[in-house]
Amino acid sequence: MTEYSAATRINWLNTVFLLLTPILALAGVILHWSLLSAPGLTEFLVFIAFYFACGLSITVGYHRLFSHRSHEASWPLVLFYAIFGAGAFQNSIIEWCSDHRNHHKSTDTENDPYSAAKGFWYSHMGWVMVEEENFQNDFSNVKDLQSSKIIMWQHRNIFLIGAISGIILPALIGFLIGGFATGVGCLVWGGLVRTVFVHHGTFLINSAAHIWGTQPYSEENSSRDSFWLAFLTFGEGYHNFHHTFQADYRNGHKWYHVDPSKWWITSFNFLGLKSNLKSTPKHSIEAAKIDIKTKKAFSKLESRNIDTEEFQNQIDEHKSSMRTSLYEIHKLKRELKNCVASSKKAVKDKIIELKKNYAELKAELKAVFKEMNRQYKTFARAV
Ligand SMILES: [Zn+2]
Ligand SMILES: [Zn+2]
Repeated sequence: MTEYSAATRINWLNTVFLLLTPILALAGVILHWSLLSAPGLTEFLVFIAFYFACGLSITVGYHRLFSHRSHEASWPLVLFYAIFGAGAFQNSIIEWCSDHRNHHKSTDTENDPYSAAKGFWYSHMGWVMVEEENFQNDFSNVKDLQSSKIIMWQHRNIFLIGAISGIILPALIGFLIGGFATGVGCLVWGGLVRTVFVHHGTFLINSAAHIWGTQPYSEENSSRDSFWLAFLTFGEGYHNFHHTFQADYRNGHKWYHVDPSKWWITSFNFLGLKSNLKSTPKHSIEAAKIDIKTKKAFSKLESRNIDTEEFQNQIDEHKSSMRTSLYEIHKLKRELKNCVASSKKAVKDKIIELKKNYAELKAELKAVFKEMNRQYKTFARAV
């Protein structure tokens, strides 16, 4: 077995950068406030603008576009993500996506670069601070990205682009608006403080989103959904959904799920820029949800030796009919867009009928789960 000393395994550049940025940010806030001026509207707006520009470049650009190819984007947007993603100081698109594709391919295993099985702190930021022999990237899993001139330009000049877009630019904007004190204020707030916020937002997805939350779609790995994380991370907190349906451009698939990255992507689609959005059909999502609910209910019943066979039959029957209804609705909605005006009413009526049928099936299935729960509780009381 090869042995490594602690010193040779530490990536000093990353370690110093990660530990120093929060200290510099805090010192900057105190010094600027006490020696120059209190932060004002300009600092606040520059902070928000760079928080969104750099944050979305990671969640939409690095993650959903480059890593997962969940949609398409024109070159000005790719350039925007390359420039402001560099300003998030999370390495180049090539490095980030290679790690991320390995994370999805080998989640929770030794080959996962930020495996949550190694604990909160390792998956949060520890993995960035050490050199793991396993993860000397050969970038063989990001060959598709290497054909982009913008992406390769960013890879070669990552530190320079990051310094300009993430530090110098906010300072320059502040200086041009309000002079020296505002320039320093914007460097502190739009550069340093914002870098810390975006860093830890992303890191929480690798740590917290694999530890705390619910698993409505799959229990195959440790990924979890959590609303509060979605709120902090431009929608990335619906991580169980994302691991289950990773090609989907959405992480929060319902309209009311807080997912600003999804809204950003769809807004470009609305503007007429063809984004070729990939989304999981509803019938697949609902089937996955039923499977997980069944698995959870059965494990409870089996712990009490209650027979599940009859329930299994009822669930299978309902699941199949519900899938068919949703699939038919999906097909008819497409048809509705292309059909002639005279036949629109008939198609709409058919959709209404199918939706009614689906709602009935859903209610019946709910009753099956209720009955399983009743039997479990009755048995639990009896023993
Ligand atoms: Zn992902
Ligand atoms: Zn993950």
